[in-house]
Amino acid sequence: MQIFEEMAAFRHDQLAFWSEPAAGYRGIIAIHDTTLGPALGGTRLWRYASEADALTDALRLARGMTYKAAIAGLKLGGGKSVILADERPRDRERLFRAHGRAVESLGGRYITAEDVGTSVDDMEFVRAETRWVAGVRGGSGDPSPATAHGVYQGIRACAQERYGDSCLEGRHVTVQGVGHVGYQLCAELAAEGARLTIADINTGSVERAVHEFGATAVAPEAIYDVPADIFAPCALGGVINDRTVARLRVDIVAGSANNQLAEPRHGNALQKRGILFAPDYVINAGGLINVYGELHGWSVERTRRKAAGIYDVVLNVFQRAREDGITAAEAANRVALQILTDARRPGSAEHGSCARRAVSMST
Ligand code: NAD
Repeated sequence: MQIFEEMAAFRHDQLAFWSEPAAGYRGIIAIHDTTLGPALGGTRLWRYASEADALTDALRLARGMTYKAAIAGLKLGGGKSVILADERPRDRERLFRAHGRAVESLGGRYITAEDVGTSVDDMEFVRAETRWVAGVRGGSGDPSPATAHGVYQGIRACAQERYGDSCLEGRHVTVQGVGHVGYQLCAELAAEGARLTIADINTGSVERAVHEFGATAVAPEAIYDVPADIFAPCALGGVINDRTVARLRVDIVAGSANNQLAEPRHGNALQKRGILFAPDYVINAGGLINVYGELHGWSVERTRRKAAGIYDVVLNVFQRAREDGITAAEAANRVALQILTDARRPGSAEHGSCARRAVSMST
């Protein structure tokens, strides 16, 4: 792999490799961009097929965080770390303290949090070595309510765009996955009088949503075939794919799951079928807003208000898509890039303020 070519292709700032064999630690921290603020992104612990795969994942995820923070209007850059797991069981404390030292070495240019394969307990070990960590005990807690509120507002924006009316009373919404986010989303939708059809592989979760919200349950695979107004994927990525696009009988796809489109072309496939798609990293930014609120000592209400702003952001993306004749997913990337380009201009508030140096945290 040509590392500098790879970094230059998407304007990544910095890559840090850290090794502590005694702790079994092999970590990569990718900082994509710090124009708007310190790079924030979780730590992923994963067994990669190769070092190249780990590097590619770190670079791709870090870039995604830059776009997500920018479009959500947060003064944060994008970064991500990956720890390369192997087959040997590891002492988590030693592993994550080693990671904490790696994070600390960057002096605040990068702030970490939980991600796939890591937990609040792991972040406590990280915290023993560095203060550049969020999502710890006593912090902002479960991000799901903020995420769900942002998704709910994003769905209202979709309804406004599609039907000229953001009201969801009487609208039929299908929800795939009623876990942390899906359950809270159902609560908000039910409170507004939406009709719910849900699916989950966990029968306990299904029963709870049926009981509490009067939702109709269908088998997990049947959720794609239910005729409804809105489909909200809140379980897995890649659910909009060659197998499912043709089956959807809805006007709108808008949910919390990350990377809903199996490939970018599935965004075009939805558009061709006249289905409006809310780009996932735009509509599910409530979790990141929650972490940002933690870093800046925001109240729950303030975080919720900021998450509610996702309504306007989603409408802005749709407007850009219409103006440029592109899909909403492409438009979201353009809007995010525009925010970064504007911020890099000499004279802008962000220019040079934190681009290449550590940033102090207000908490
Ligand atoms: P979760 O694990 O609490 O919930 C996911 C639910 O999906 C579970 O109840 C699970 O049983 C169900 N599920 C799994 N496979 C399924 C299938 N094939 N069909 C139907 N249901 C299935 O996770 P979560 O925290 O609610 O997150 C949901 C999605 O939103 C994930 O993709 C996550 O990456 C994304 N997301 C979450 C947050 C957050 O704040 N939690 C923030 C941003 C994005």
